[in-house]
Amino acid sequence: MLIPFNKPYMTGKELWYISQAHANGHLAGDGEFTRRCNAWLENYVGCNKALLTHSCTAALEITAILADLQAGDEVIMPSYTFVSTANAFVLRGAVPVFVDIRADTLNIDESLLEEAITDKTKAIVVVHYAGVACEMDTILEIARRHELLVIEDNAQGLGSTYKGRPLGSIGDLAAVSFHETKNIISGEGGALLVNSPRFSERAEMIREKGTNRSQFFRGEVNKYTWVDIGSSYLPSDLVAAFLWAQMEEADEITQRRLGLWNTYHQWFASLEKQGKVRRPIIPPDCQHNAHMYYLLLPDLEQRTAFIHALKQRGIGAVFHYIPLHDSPIGKQYGRTSGELKNTQDLSDRLVRLPLWLGLDEGQVGVIEEVIKTLS
Ligand SMILES: *Cc1c(COP(=O)(O)O)cnc(C)c1O
Repeated sequence: MLIPFNKPYMTGKELWYISQAHANGHLAGDGEFTRRCNAWLENYVGCNKALLTHSCTAALEITAILADLQAGDEVIMPSYTFVSTANAFVLRGAVPVFVDIRADTLNIDESLLEEAITDKTKAIVVVHYAGVACEMDTILEIARRHELLVIEDNAQGLGSTYKGRPLGSIGDLAAVSFHETKNIISGEGGALLVNSPRFSERAEMIREKGTNRSQFFRGEVNKYTWVDIGSSYLPSDLVAAFLWAQMEEADEITQRRLGLWNTYHQWFASLEKQGKVRRPIIPPDCQHNAHMYYLLLPDLEQRTAFIHALKQRGIGAVFHYIPLHDSPIGKQYGRTSGELKNTQDLSDRLVRLPLWLGLDEGQVGVIEEVIKTLS
């Protein structure tokens, strides 16, 4: 591959911080670097409490435990998302109820939420696709009226805002990812963000194998014991040390990604005018973090040919997602609400282009040239 689809960006300070963690002699979770990262997130997002986890998947699993779901309870979410959004809730015996997405942002269509709600509905899980916010005011209003939890799968949206509010600070709970394909990374990694303080204490215990270990170490209780269900959801402090190097550069990383994103966006303006592609649409209330640049092609056939042609020239471009309601496990454990027309249509037509720091102007120029010859 001349230009791979993704290449993890390193700031250069990761190994230095890992060597500090090594020298500290604290390798397990919740050491000095984990504390720094948690505090950084609390400040950057403005959440009540942030807890590093070993993945966004793990953070979503904690939210599902916190939601106190009973078998058969329903959780509304888009079908157009990564499997972890649904898996976390299926693991608790809940039924994912898949709702269609909007054609403009590819986010859950808030106008379809009311009709998906039943007396078994317990939560709405929103996914800020490509780091572009869902229509949160409407979603929160509906959730409040029906007494539902709002959980943000903010795997892609760290650094983005909705009406000036950071994504991850809006729902009751949120999950972030530091997987190497995201903007700020630690290989595998994530965090749980707690906005409703009533969940803070329990979240901490669930993340620590269902124990009150953290309270014990703070001297708040005099015995350390099994107090809840839970698992081992915390990352090693070595991983947090790596992540700390990235957090220090978070704003610069976002700015540089936005530069690349805007370059792509300008080129494709004329192709869009000719009706050959559709570019991402960013609503005026949303500031995004340039997590992803995608194009929508006219149909599946043209998308397949486009990805193939780019591959022939050494450029990695990918599509996603196979809609969850169409997957073997989605069919077994979930149900749909209404027809999922946009989900079906857009998932067939979407292609993601390489967007990573280190992609230089020359390489971007190559992609532009190749795309011109194809169009
Ligand atoms: C990447 C991603 C996840 C999973 O993140 P991990 O950190 O790999 O567990 C979940 N949801 C969405 C929408 C994602 O993009």
